[in-house]
Amino acid sequence: MAATLALPKGYGPRIAEALERSPRIPVIWLEGQDCAGNTEAFLRASHPTVAELLLEILSVDYHETLMAAAGADAERARIETMDRFPNGYVAVVEGAIPIADGGIYCVIGGRSFREIATEVCSGALAVIAVGSCAFDGGLPAAAGGPTGAVGIGQLVRGVPVINLPGCPMNVQNLTATIVHYLTFGTWPAVDSRGRPLFAYGQLIHDQCERRAHFEHGEFVLAWGDEGHRKGWCLYKLGCKGPATFANCPTVRFNDRTSWPVKVGHGCIGCTMPAFWDQMSPFYRRLPAPPPFPSDVTVDEVGTALVGLVGGLAAVHAVGSIIRKRRAGRVVAAATEGRTPESASEATGPEGAEGVAGGEAEGRAAGIAGSPKGEPEPTMDTDPDESGGGGKAGGAR
Ligand code: SF4
Repeated sequence: MAATLALPKGYGPRIAEALERSPRIPVIWLEGQDCAGNTEAFLRASHPTVAELLLEILSVDYHETLMAAAGADAERARIETMDRFPNGYVAVVEGAIPIADGGIYCVIGGRSFREIATEVCSGALAVIAVGSCAFDGGLPAAAGGPTGAVGIGQLVRGVPVINLPGCPMNVQNLTATIVHYLTFGTWPAVDSRGRPLFAYGQLIHDQCERRAHFEHGEFVLAWGDEGHRKGWCLYKLGCKGPATFANCPTVRFNDRTSWPVKVGHGCIGCTMPAFWDQMSPFYRRLPAPPPFPSDVTVDEVGTALVGLVGGLAAVHAVGSIIRKRRAGRVVAAATEGRTPESASEATGPEGAEGVAGGEAEGRAAGIAGSPKGEPEPTMDTDPDESGGGGKAGGAR
């Protein structure tokens, strides 16, 4: 715990003593629009184990997935905890809260989740949002989502809200947040989005074991190639580590054995705001990482990075639309017995626009030239553009 909280080793005895003497904190764990991935993460806690968490540190009085009771008995347990410990329990929220159409997209026991979550969280000692959906709406809030999904921090006022985004969150960070409170009597310092600095204060890129390969221009160019087998840098296959703040490389998952980049898949930026929209396509490489100093914080560069990625996504979207329109004309021309070339010539300004779009995208991607001018990946790094043809792939 001391290591996770970035505290000197000497804090170990103080933490142990605090855990010995502290009463177990009552917890009400709510689930809304979620996949239960954070509950799965909770069940895999190892330092301490989930048994130690449940029996010695916390008193999880309400958790739909873990509790034996169901239906009216379960709801009664939640209400009893709220009555017995006013402003003395921790509300853990997993999943987004749909607020469109009166909140009808998530109803529990005949009441909207919005109503339940607001009631529970308003009377809590603190709210801990676990996972990206509870942080800012996550997947249900991504483009096209119809439910008006939001994070719990957008609903609750007057109560500390600590956000632990991730898909899922790392349970070490949840435990450390609670242990910090038990040891020091305060919640850990957070950034402007409520993320604890001990966990979200550093770029993944600056803690990654593949960083030396990035510096030496050694990149994986295709899944399973020689570089992939040797553990080279995944930047060119879309790794978002240079734009993502989290402690995944040091805390790791599954009993601290590994994390996505270690096993050969790039970071998808799941701890960042609106990552489903801002960080996708996940296999498209980022623009070149800006030369930030290693002690830069998420608040100092987060907005700029999101804007940069968002801008690239916008260019990508325009290019895709234009290419699809051109592809449609080629199909139409073939149906009418004309050649694709004549169809392209006949498009006039729109055809010119299409070329310009492709060049713009190529230029945007070109910013991301590797430090040593390595060749481009041989695979099509954007599965969404399989209809774009070899020309689009070549532009990248
Ligand atoms: Fe690691 Fe990704 Fe950075 Fe490469 S780009 S060093 S794989 S975080």
